[in-house]
Amino acid sequence: HIDTQCLQASDAAHHLHPFADYSQKHQQISRVIVKGEDIYVWDSEGRRLLDGMAGLWCMNVGYGRKRIADAVHAQMTRLAYYNTFFHTTHPPAVELAAKLVEISPPQFNHVFFAGSGSEGNDTVVRLVRHYWAKQGHPERKIIISRHNAYHGSTMAGASLGGWPSMHQQGDLPLAGIVHIGQPSYLEGGRGKTPEQFGLEAASWLEHKILELGADKVAAFIGEPVQGAGGVIVPPPTYWPEIQRICGKYGVLLVADEVVTGFGRLGHWFGSTYFGIQPDLITFAKGVSSGYVPLGGVLVGDRIAHALMAKGGEFNHGFTYSGHPIGCVAALENIRIIEEENLVAQVRDDTGPYLKQRFEALAQHPLVGDAGAVGFLGGLNLVRHKGATVHDNVPFDRALEVGMLCRAHMFGSGVIVRTIPGDRLLISPPLTMTRAQIDEMIALITTGLDKTLAE
Ligand code: PLP
Repeated sequence: HIDTQCLQASDAAHHLHPFADYSQKHQQISRVIVKGEDIYVWDSEGRRLLDGMAGLWCMNVGYGRKRIADAVHAQMTRLAYYNTFFHTTHPPAVELAAKLVEISPPQFNHVFFAGSGSEGNDTVVRLVRHYWAKQGHPERKIIISRHNAYHGSTMAGASLGGWPSMHQQGDLPLAGIVHIGQPSYLEGGRGKTPEQFGLEAASWLEHKILELGADKVAAFIGEPVQGAGGVIVPPPTYWPEIQRICGKYGVLLVADEVVTGFGRLGHWFGSTYFGIQPDLITFAKGVSSGYVPLGGVLVGDRIAHALMAKGGEFNHGFTYSGHPIGCVAALENIRIIEEENLVAQVRDDTGPYLKQRFEALAQHPLVGDAGAVGFLGGLNLVRHKGATVHDNVPFDRALEVGMLCRAHMFGSGVIVRTIPGDRLLISPPLTMTRAQIDEMIALITTGLDKTLAE
């Protein structure tokens, strides 16, 4: 028996939640989630919710996988912990590093482990600066990122991120981290084709490199598809042009694949979907489907070979780098993705089906536009629809229509994410069948109808 009110009262009394307004603490009643199975979770009142967000963009293989629990249990009793500092190792870390190399693009032969995506991105900042110092260019320090990016909550992660609301807290960004615009066609594409806009948005990188001086720029970092910023899918011309510009100026290219990795775009890594070859890939979330925290950085040969040249230790690492429990959970998770053929299924079958069904939501009177790629989707709620997506008229922000709609979605039994600007996002488990996609779309439609009726 679960006493919901007792849990909620204790939660309100003692628990400071991430990304929460503490002044609202006593008005906000937390939802208590107690169980998960397949693509569903249950709250403490016994309500079943279809989890359209895969937890926090991470439950790629869905809930309730006993074989991951068994693998974790076996490792817990054999060797619950050992570190990987200096030159010590253990079988799960060795095996997982080899597995990640096997499934990643060919330029990746090395892995650095961390505990989360934020730690992975902090590692990136120190690693690229260490790389350039070893190359005899310690002045190549600046990392270029993008407005509205999300790269985590540590000091470096929040600096790489492009949210003013985060920069305001902690005097960020840290020195040497600068931002350019995001490739949002909705925001900047009026009067242009998506292809033209993609090239234009990529040219902002070249302008920034020239403004700063290429000899000062270490790297460019971006999420292949911006996730928490709003599932912003760049036009197809964007990433190849970014790659060309990085190549022209010798700037390292970093893909933050914390969300887009491990099948979400129908490839092991989203960079492959966009046809680019980054020098570094940050991963977390889907690597272990969130069963146990794990993150890290795939290190491409260009950097790895330089690191292995004589002189200059990399003084960086975490107690939990390559934690054996995280590693066995990740190995079992990757085996499931392989055995159930989830990457190809998302690429060839359920992904295209989700895209078709999700984008058809644009016919709903409340939905201005809807777009999906792989198992990521985003739609905008609008007051009036115009002739093009750029002519849609948004709601008054103060009405918080997005939040209202999200509440109706919960009421109808589906979890989606809302972000400011009345944008709704989905990132469901990759195991979803066509029938479950139909179910999710039906629940979302009910939520939209209820919002419209209000
Ligand atoms: N990078 C991206 C693209 C993310 O979406 C996130 C988390 O949502 C992170 C990094 C940070 O990962 P973590 O929360 O594991 O530190």
